[in-house]
Amino acid sequence: MIKEVRTEILCPRCKVPMDYLSETEKTSNNNGRSTKITRYYRCPVCGRRIIDEVLIIKDNNTDITIESHTNGARKLLEKQKTSLIK
Ligand SMILES: [Zn+2]
Repeated sequence: MIKEVRTEILCPRCKVPMDYLSETEKTSNNNGRSTKITRYYRCPVCGRRIIDEVLIIKDNNTDITIESHTNGARKLLEKQKTSLIK
């Protein structure tokens, strides 16, 4: 059995562990298809969302490109680690 271990992120407002969720959105047009996968943390108490990663997979029938964007959550995690050390 493979169990994914993920570092917990605490909600900056409520200080409770946030849920980790992902959403897939598919779109298609004349230029091809694209799939957008958003992975984010959501606070079960206040509903605040922090985006961890966005992957955009574009398929224009000849090439497939994958774009990856990361932001917010990782910076927040670094901040929490730093404050634990201090
Ligand atoms: Zn919260």
